[in-house]
Amino acid sequence: MNISHHFDDATLMAYASGSLPQGMALLVACHLHWCSECRQRVQEAEAIGGSLLTQIAPLPLDSQALDQVLARLDLNDQDVLGDAMAEEVSAQILKPQVQIPGDIPPPLYHYLQKPLDQLPWKRLGYGAHQLDLHLGGPGATRLLRLAPGVSVPHHSHSGSELTLVLRGSYTDEFGRFAAGDVADLDGEAHHQPIVDTDQDCICLIATDAPLKFSGLMGRLVQPLIGL
Ligand SMILES: [Zn+2]
Repeated sequence: MNISHHFDDATLMAYASGSLPQGMALLVACHLHWCSECRQRVQEAEAIGGSLLTQIAPLPLDSQALDQVLARLDLNDQDVLGDAMAEEVSAQILKPQVQIPGDIPPPLYHYLQKPLDQLPWKRLGYGAHQLDLHLGGPGATRLLRLAPGVSVPHHSHSGSELTLVLRGSYTDEFGRFAAGDVADLDGEAHHQPIVDTDQDCICLIATDAPLKFSGLMGRLVQPLIGL
């Protein structure tokens, strides 16, 4: 995979510290599966976070702290947990090995459980289909499938928007994005992506706030497509 667009440092730092919303963290994990460069940068971010932790002055513990923790441990609960884990492990071993399609990173396949062409896509019109992953949280996490030549109305974002291309490609004001590439856009960015080959473009998109469409056309279609 020939990847030329990666995440900002701020996004990878937020991922490393566990502070991204669930959908965005999923999208980062998907790109990391394909991108050794960003995996390396996350390791560096974790090392920085770790060294910052060691510089925090330790606080003295309450003298009862150890007793309180021990009192909360219930050996019966541990047995139940142990049994549940053993069952889970044997279920994993007995599960037939699934062949995951090459255009779906395993963290995403965990949610989809189907090839991209067999998903229950919802038609939006204008050559666009989407599938909401319903992950909850402040923003949205969805798959968007755009037909060749289709462009998304010009828009900016009230928060951040992460996009990972799974199949096909598009071009916008920031360049050309093909499978494996990510677009890492903040609230200042305005863009109008257009699918630039004769193949559908399928992207995973995670936002932490609704989009803001700037043109009349965009404002008209926004309630319809629910972006
Ligand atoms: Zn990368």
